[in-house]
Amino acid sequence: MTQAALLPSHVEGRWVTPTGHGEPLLDPVTGEQVARFSAGGLDLGAVLRHGREVGGPALRALTFHERAALVTELATALGAHKDELYALSTRTGATRRDTDVDVMGGIGTLFAIASKGRRELPNERFVVEGGVERLSKDGGFAARHLLTPLQGVAVQVNAFNFPVWGVLEKLAPALVAGVPTVVKPAPQTAYVTEFLVRRILETGLLPEGALQLVNQAPADLLDHLTGQDLLSFTGSARTAALLRSHPTVVSSAVRFTAEADSLNAAILAPDAGPGTPELDLFVKEVAREMTVKAGQKCTAVRRVVVPRELVDTVVEMLEARLSRTVVGDPRDPATTMGSLVSLPQRDAVRRSVDLLVADGAKVVLGDPDALPADLAAGAFLPPLLLVGDVASEAVHRVEAFGPVATVLGYDAAVGPAGVAEIAARGQGSLVATLATSDAAYAREVVLAAASFHGRLHLLDRDGGPQSTGHGSPMPGLVHGGPGRAGGGEELGGARAIVHHLQRTAVQGSPAMLAAVTGQWQAGAPRRTDAGHPFRKTFGELQVGDAVISEPRTVTQADIDAFVALTGDSFYAHTDPVAAAANPLFGGIVAHGYLVLSFAAGLFVDPAPGPVLANYGLDSLRFTTPVKPGDTIQVALTCLAKTPRAGAEHGEVRWDAEVTLEDGSVAARYQLLTMVAL
Ligand code: NAP
Repeated sequence: MTQAALLPSHVEGRWVTPTGHGEPLLDPVTGEQVARFSAGGLDLGAVLRHGREVGGPALRALTFHERAALVTELATALGAHKDELYALSTRTGATRRDTDVDVMGGIGTLFAIASKGRRELPNERFVVEGGVERLSKDGGFAARHLLTPLQGVAVQVNAFNFPVWGVLEKLAPALVAGVPTVVKPAPQTAYVTEFLVRRILETGLLPEGALQLVNQAPADLLDHLTGQDLLSFTGSARTAALLRSHPTVVSSAVRFTAEADSLNAAILAPDAGPGTPELDLFVKEVAREMTVKAGQKCTAVRRVVVPRELVDTVVEMLEARLSRTVVGDPRDPATTMGSLVSLPQRDAVRRSVDLLVADGAKVVLGDPDALPADLAAGAFLPPLLLVGDVASEAVHRVEAFGPVATVLGYDAAVGPAGVAEIAARGQGSLVATLATSDAAYAREVVLAAASFHGRLHLLDRDGGPQSTGHGSPMPGLVHGGPGRAGGGEELGGARAIVHHLQRTAVQGSPAMLAAVTGQWQAGAPRRTDAGHPFRKTFGELQVGDAVISEPRTVTQADIDAFVALTGDSFYAHTDPVAAAANPLFGGIVAHGYLVLSFAAGLFVDPAPGPVLANYGLDSLRFTTPVKPGDTIQVALTCLAKTPRAGAEHGEVRWDAEVTLEDGSVAARYQLLTMVAL
């Protein structure tokens, strides 16, 4: 047999090709060597140091928005290589449909996380999280929470089944957060990851050290981790347990996440009987989950939980669908399900099916040991449908990581809580589907089941046709699940970025905190003697610049005029008797919106100038009612400035405080404006 090349690693700024023999990685269809995977040889301590010392500082010099822009560019650039990735992925046994999930899912995740970073994080290098915590009675001592990037590396240890998406779903949040990444792929499909990393590095978009690839056995990788590093694992529950308890991970409190396997359930509710759209949607979903990536998906449906009297119907319908599956070489366009990733993987699935059968399940569709002669040498399996007893143990424990699912009948009398309990026997899953059109039943199941699952997918006739599917982790949603699923919930959405940041409480005087955070806060100095802040450009304006308005007395005539103008004749503004009976007001009060409008009239500087627009208010509270005869006054203070990458203006957040003569606060809010540079 021709010896394929050893896969190189990209470490410390260069591609390194190992010496030695290495483990051959075989095309699961043809048996040809695609590549070889090295047993070791790299100085993994030096790899992690390079990330920390070279990649980290370069990434941390950028803001969240700058890094997000870089991730968007990367996603666009990778789109140009998707056909090459599709072609290479066929060598792993994957069809075009399978690779779509991996490649387009991965690129989509880059776009989505970059967009989250831009929309939900500031254009800064740190985040000021939450409000001011007052720590002393007179406000002279307080605290803020800061989120800053960890100064270590994000080490990914990945599973074989998503060589592209698996890398990108973790790389995107690490990059936006400002933390360099070291990727350790699973050997079986490491050549696809190698191709991906090569294309990423060729774009030249990433600073040196931001991404390294370790194409070798993990060796002592974990021994070199520190408390500033992160370890994100995807793979089996068994390996997750091993890594979680690694002495260095434990002693250095390394931030660890695991996305492990799970026995995901699809549940058919009693109302979803024959003739309902929910039953059709359910069967379609289960059949798809069994065949996409030949069932090698952590989210695939393994347990098909249906009312006992519908077991035969569901089996017949699934048989009808699954028997149309064309198993074969993924290079053949007629193929609808490719092979498993390797012969050992096929054999592992056969062993898992044996365990299920030994525990009483029956194979009702497909024969794991009898394949047409032309497929017998490859890592193929047909879709395998089993029927089991819901009370048996193995079906809730054994993951057959292939095109395998078991139909389990339940007694409808167990009700929604009973159904949730059956799903929970898997000890925690990534996702469960419930097909029902009964919203009350769905609510009961969701509330009883939710704490056992990372995601719950409700399938009914309204949402079903547009559903993103049981098995697709969405970039904005939690990915991970409790218990056996790994206990992770850090990936997905902006929380995945925040996972790479350290939260620190900083205590001090308001002036000190304002200087550190760049955000004015009550008690910090205001500057009112340097002209009206609306006359200042974004560059001239300083945090703390303020205007204290003239006072204005609110009259009954003002309130009546506001009623006439807006049509808001709520009794508290118009009916003295009813308003007097109101326990909060005790008489006529001004509209909150009138107070806001007067406040604007008091603080604006009307002439054209650098303030371009008011685009909203945040955190508005009316705290003391304003009655006819009360006099209000406004203090408007520049609270924070956020430059916008590539724009002609920046965002300025103002603190607006409307007070009454006695000093009580009538209203407080943050005003959002765009100010020319
Ligand atoms: P695996 O055998 O657990 O291996 C996963 C990764 O862990 C590989 O890169 C492996 O590398 C590495 N590894 C194993 N032992 C290690 C150690 N002692 N130190 C450091 N790294 C170590 O899983 P797999 O067979 O690749 O993937 C299939 C499993 O992953 C299934 O159970 C599936 O459910 C699960 N999965 C879960 C998700 C999810 O998002 N929840 C996604 C995909 C897959 P070496 O082989 O080089 O040791």
